[in-house]
Amino acid sequence: MAAFDYDLFVIGAGSGGVRAARKAAEAGARVAVAEHDRVGGTCVIRGCVPKKLFVYAAQLGEAIEDASGYGWRADNVAFDWPTLLASKDREIARLEGVYRANLAKAGVELVEERAALAGGHDVRLEASGRTVSAERILIATGARANPHAALPGHELCITSNEAFHLERLPRSIVIAGGGYIAVEFAGIFHGLGVDTTIVYRGKEILSRFDMDLRRLLHAEYENKGIRIVTQQVFSSIERGRDGQLVANLSDGGRMVTDAVMLAVGRDPNTGGMGLEEAGVQLDAKGAVCVDDHSRTSLDHVWAIGDVTDRLQLTPVAIHEAMCFVETVFHGRPTRPDYRSVATAVFSQPEIGTVGLSEDAARRRFANLDIYKSAFRPMRHILAGRSERMLVKLVVDADTQRVIGAHALGPDAGEMAQLLAVPVKMGARKADFDATIAVHPTAAEEFVTMAAPTERIRNREALPA
Ligand SMILES: Cc1cc2nc3c(=O)[nH]c(=O)nc-3n(C[C@H](O)[C@H](O)[C@H](O)COP(=O)(O)OP(=O)(O)OC[C@H]3O[C@@H](n4cnc5c(N)ncnc54)[C@H](O)[C@@H]3O)c2cc1C
Repeated sequence: MAAFDYDLFVIGAGSGGVRAARKAAEAGARVAVAEHDRVGGTCVIRGCVPKKLFVYAAQLGEAIEDASGYGWRADNVAFDWPTLLASKDREIARLEGVYRANLAKAGVELVEERAALAGGHDVRLEASGRTVSAERILIATGARANPHAALPGHELCITSNEAFHLERLPRSIVIAGGGYIAVEFAGIFHGLGVDTTIVYRGKEILSRFDMDLRRLLHAEYENKGIRIVTQQVFSSIERGRDGQLVANLSDGGRMVTDAVMLAVGRDPNTGGMGLEEAGVQLDAKGAVCVDDHSRTSLDHVWAIGDVTDRLQLTPVAIHEAMCFVETVFHGRPTRPDYRSVATAVFSQPEIGTVGLSEDAARRRFANLDIYKSAFRPMRHILAGRSERMLVKLVVDADTQRVIGAHALGPDAGEMAQLLAVPVKMGARKADFDATIAVHPTAAEEFVTMAAPTERIRNREALPA
């Protein structure tokens, strides 16, 4: 008789947990996965997927505006929010069905309740009161929007979760935060006709991205009419007499608005799970501490995805899941590889990026060549849209390797995926130059920038 009920018990059926459960089961393990909400996790239910559907909806607004320059008459066009919500909900339900079917096909048992560690190899299932045992336990519980509980009036605000289900589209919204979720939702709401303001405590939105992208996106957002207030935070939120919200700012200013959205970071889902009691070490933010192979401080407990607060992205959670299964169920120790992870910000215009920003490169490389091209993409010309596009390469001047590739403009996210291949392979600038352009495209700029726009000779600036 087997010593444990399962070979692997996964807590959390999101991007990472579902992949790990399926792949372990396909490798012959007896696997269960617990989920106390909907199957698919943040990405499918309340993250990447519904967000991207909303981005498409918002982009269509601009496409309709642009259409007249191309000869289309688009009179009496109207947008209906309930239709978008219903279409989005249908698609999410379809995808959840696919996730459930894939788990079943792989032979994974789905346990639809909240799970917590109960000491040793035991897992407590809260609704049924059952305790089950597993040789190995995988924590894949993700993260949730920080509710900013210290802010007076925070309960009057929404987070990205509620933004996907608003009964009515607000006429105006103020979004707190400068990360990609705040910036993306600002583009969505503005594109759907909502008067939109971002309030961000930092100097410039989107910290950690290349400064040229950050500045240009800021400028383009303001050109569209999205207000961006930097170096300010909310001091309190109140309900006004007319039902509107009043957002009071740290400089004494106030904004009257229909809705306030908080996008001020995400907290790991580790509370009330018996982790520390069982001996699993957490960091100061409450994230599960793991080693290079995603193993926690307990030998038989592993953790992947957002709950470990490494790189909070769906493909990274999936990659960590694959490495975990390779290590544990195929006997091939495999570390997740975080080099050159491409990423996008689905703002409007969009950002696509891979490798180092210029600032990060300046801190690590003695000599750099920067190639930049800013232009109006062809599709905007007849439309009469003034929006500019930027493409940029950061090159290590000593080896000629391209160490960063960045784009802001239409389809930049798609470009980043393909740019990730040469950047990860260590391609040199000459390899880009030797590639014949696809014409006419915006992406061709990446292979036609002949001379550096700037040569940075930086050796003295680096620590010895
Ligand atoms: C608005 C938004 C937009 C995003 N857009 C993108 C994007 O464009 N691209 C991208 O790559 N990433 C994006 N992300 C991030 C991405 O969604 C996450 O990185 C990814 O979902 C992490 O996967 P995970 O498996 O770690 O956790 P999750 O997908 O969050 O899954 C964790 C699951 O565990 C469940 N759970 C938690 N505790 C328990 C418990 N005790 N018992 C049982 N079940 C439990 C939760 O209900 C959840 O279903 C976005 C996130 C948000 C919020």
